[in-house]
Amino acid sequence: MKVVIVGGVAGGATAAARIRRLNEQAEIVVFERSGYISYANCGLPYYIGDVITDPEELTLQTPESFFSRFLVNMKVRHEVTAIHPEKKKLP
Ligand SMILES: Cc1cc2nc3c(=O)[nH]c(=O)nc-3n(C[C@H](O)[C@H](O)[C@H](O)COP(=O)(O)OP(=O)(O)OC[C@H]3O[C@@H](n4cnc5c(N)ncnc54)[C@H](O)[C@@H]3O)c2cc1C
Repeated sequence: MKVVIVGGVAGGATAAARIRRLNEQAEIVVFERSGYISYANCGLPYYIGDVITDPEELTLQTPESFFSRFLVNMKVRHEVTAIHPEKKKLP
C-alpha cells in the first residue's frame, strides 16, 4: 500500500503515525509546504508573548525523528498544487 498525505502537523502527522501502526509495510509519504512537520500551534501565543523564547521548544518532531520512529518519509517545503488521479498507473 502506498499512502500520500498532504499536510503534516496535527492531522497529517497523526494520520501517518496511525497508518504505520496499522500497516508495517505501507509506503507513507507526507508533503508539508512549511518547514515543520509537527509543532505546537497552541504554544504560538506564548512565543509571540516571549514566554517561550526558543522556537525549538514548539517543535515536537523533525522529519528525521519521524522517519526513525515511524518510517514515514516527511517531505517538508513541498507544496501540493494539484492531484491527477487520472494519471494513476496501476501496478
Ligand atoms: C494560536 C493557536 C492556539 C490553539 N490552541 C489550541 C488549544 O489550546 N487546544 C486545541 O485543541 N487546539 C488549539 N488550536 C488549534 C489546533 O492547533 C488546530 O486544531 C490544529 O493545529 C489543526 O491541525 P490540522 O493538522 O488539522 O491543521 P493545520 O495545523 O492547519 O495543518 C495543516 C498543514 O497542512 C499544510 N498544508 C496545507 N495545504 C498544503 C498543500 N497544498 N501542500 C502541502 N502542505 C499543505 C500546512 O502547511 C499545515 O502545516 C490552536 C491553534 C492556534 C493557531
